[in-house]
Amino acid sequence: MNKYIKIAILAAAVAGITAAIGCAKQESGSKKADSSSKQETEKQEETLPKREYKDPSEYGKVIALTFDDGPSSTTSLVLDKLEEHGAVGTFFLIGDNITDDKADTVKRAVSLGCEIENHSKTHSYMTKMSVEDIKAEIDYTNEKIVALTGRKPEFFRPPYIDVNNEMYDAIDETFICGYGCDDYDAKVEIEERVERTLKQAKDGAIILLHDAEGNVKTVAALEKILTELEAQGYEFVTVGELFHAKGVTPQEYALYSEVTAQ
Ligand SMILES: [Zn+2]
Repeated sequence: MNKYIKIAILAAAVAGITAAIGCAKQESGSKKADSSSKQETEKQEETLPKREYKDPSEYGKVIALTFDDGPSSTTSLVLDKLEEHGAVGTFFLIGDNITDDKADTVKRAVSLGCEIENHSKTHSYMTKMSVEDIKAEIDYTNEKIVALTGRKPEFFRPPYIDVNNEMYDAIDETFICGYGCDDYDAKVEIEERVERTLKQAKDGAIILLHDAEGNVKTVAALEKILTELEAQGYEFVTVGELFHAKGVTPQEYALYSEVTAQ
C-alpha cells in the first residue's frame, strides 16, 4: 500500500569518547514522517560538480574523516594528504574564517570530492544565544559556502558540541559529532592522535579532526591514519555519502557520531 515508507533507523550511538568537548550529549526522538522534505527545500544552482555517490550496495567498510575550524592554511596541507591517498573528507567551516584568500582552498576541496558543511559563524557556545542569533550564525556560513560552491550545507557541527532543543528547532541541518582525539589540544602528540583515532575507527564511524590554523600535528597524524585505515580496507566517504551508503535518512533531534544500517 504505502509506496516507500523508509524506516529510518536512528544510528546515533554517541559514545562520548571525547569527553573534553562534551560529545556524550545525545538527544533523540521526534522522528519526522517525511524527512525527505528537508532535501527538497533549497536547490541552488551548482557552480562546482557535486560528489557522485555509488549505489549503496557497492560500498564496503566505510569511514568519514571530518575536519573542523577551517578554512586555514592547514586545510591545504590536509587536502594534499587526502589527494595523495585518493581519499575524501568533510570540512565543517567557521564562517568568519571564510575569507577571500581561502576561496581557492575551499573550491579545491570540492574539486577533490570533499564536502563542505557548517560549523557556525563565530564558533561560540550557541546554547546561550537567542533563536535569532542562532539562525544568523547558520545563515551567514551557509551563504558564504553557497557563494563559493553553489551547494548549501546539509550538516552542522555545533561548536564544542554544545546543543539544546532551541538549536535543534532553529537549525535545519543534521547535527554531527564524531569520534575525536583531542587534536585541538597542541599538547596531544602526533602518535597519540593516531592511536586514539585508530582505536575508535569502525565501519560507519565519523572521525573528528581539526584543520585549524597551525595544527600541523594533525596533518602528520593524518598521513599515518590514512595509511593504516587503507591497510585495514576502509573506504573514505563524506558524511553525506556515509548516510547514503548505509541507507539511513538523517533524523532531527539527533547528534550522530556514526551511521549504521539496521
Ligand atoms: Zn570547532
